Amino acid sequence: MTTTSPVSGLTASATAGDFPAGTVEPDYVLTEALGTDPASVFAAIGAEDREYWDRARDFVQDEVLPVIDGFWERGDYPLHLLKRLGELDLLRDGVPVNGFPAMSRMAAGLVTMEISRGDGSVATMIAVQGGLALRSVAECGSAVQKERWLPAIAAGTEYAAFALTEPTHGSDAVALESTATGTAGGYLLNGEKKWIGNGSVGGVTVVWARGEDGQVHGYLVPQDTPGYAATKIEGKLALRAIWQAHIRLDNVFVPEEDVLPGARTFKDTARVLLATRLGVAWSAVGHATACYETAVQYARQRRQFGRPLGASQIVQERLARMLSELATMQLMVVQMTRLDEEGTLTPEQASLAKFTCTRTARAIASNARDLLGGNGILLANRVARHLADIEAIHTYEGTETMQALIIGRGITGTSAFS
Ligand SMILES: Cc1cc2nc3c(=O)[nH]c(=O)nc-3n(C[C@H](O)[C@H](O)[C@H](O)COP(=O)(O)OP(=O)(O)OC[C@H]3O[C@@H](n4cnc5c(N)ncnc54)[C@H](O)[C@@H]3O)c2cc1C
Repeated sequence: MTTTSPVSGLTASATAGDFPAGTVEPDYVLTEALGTDPASVFAAIGAEDREYWDRARDFVQDEVLPVIDGFWERGDYPLHLLKRLGELDLLRDGVPVNGFPAMSRMAAGLVTMEISRGDGSVATMIAVQGGLALRSVAECGSAVQKERWLPAIAAGTEYAAFALTEPTHGSDAVALESTATGTAGGYLLNGEKKWIGNGSVGGVTVVWARGEDGQVHGYLVPQDTPGYAATKIEGKLALRAIWQAHIRLDNVFVPEEDVLPGARTFKDTARVLLATRLGVAWSAVGHATACYETAVQYARQRRQFGRPLGASQIVQERLARMLSELATMQLMVVQMTRLDEEGTLTPEQASLAKFTCTRTARAIASNARDLLGGNGILLANRVARHLADIEAIHTYEGTETMQALIIGRGITGTSAFS
């Protein structure tokens, strides 16, 4: 009979003793999904949310893990996976779209976590296309714009990007300098954007620019519009299987009907960003889960000094520490998402979740990398890819420090950044 541990998720039959000693290194089996849930935080997840989660898990095991290392190593974009996310209705980040079934905030979080357990680039496809671009149209678009764009972006039949950051305005995106100047029948956009996911793959970009009223507005720009020039950013160490673009806007004409009517000031942009901040925390939990579960499997299978690594007390203490940190992250994202679903989540709480989870994921990944020894730097063993990818989510959608400053403003009542 086999028994399953609620902590490690491993069955008793898959114990260290099954892996014989010898001079030939075994083929380690490190990609099993162990379902780690030490505090039973996921026990109460409802059937509909779990159905989304299971679909994401099958997609990761069957379609992401078998191919992702090659794409990541080559710096290629597996656009077919973006399309599959759309086909499987995993791309939408919980944004309601006519013709699509209801998807709760919890389901969206679980999907982001699970896809991140597989790969950060694929999770970033959801963050960019569903979390940011789709949500911008849903929150700020006209009825006609919603009908034109929402189903296509949600289904992955159109690619979509969100262009806020500029080469000289990242954390202070509120001070962006791209301009929208009135002309006959619409506006001319000028300026530069940096780090724009999906900005060069052919699709539509939501461009944020400053109008003549001095406020930030949103514009829908098909990427084949004359004057829109996007270059893939090369030489990245993280998220290598999704492309970010450097975009130049040179008198890009946007007709009046492609201006987002609900994007009247930067506050509307910030509303979209706030909705996605918790998603990045979920992503961090997924990365950390992958690293922890890889470390558990490796500690059981790798033998040194005549016994499995996991038989050493200090290794067990390290695994216990990682599990404790992972449980903290899980508890935090589930509770914050409950608040989000009730409509009471505050910006400070969303920042606390991102701040806690990306920095903790970083620590878990580093610990797991070390526990795998030299094998820890090999892409095939997963941890190195996650370790690198966490560096990107630590920064995007508000750096760790900016989250700390938002939390600090809430604690002290004084803003240190405006
Ligand atoms: C892989 C990736 C994908 C991205 N995708 C997109 C996208 O699709 N669309 C988009 O619009 N943007 C995107 N971004 C941009 C991202 O949101 C910015 O990188 C992020 O907001 C930080 O801006 P920055 O890189 O210019 O860093 P900076 O703002 O220059 O910050 C540099 C450092 O200074 C610190 N700092 C800044 N201000 C302060 C302060 N007042 N006090 C103390 N410390 C401070 C920061 O915390 C950081 O440590 C992406 C970025 C990356 C890396």
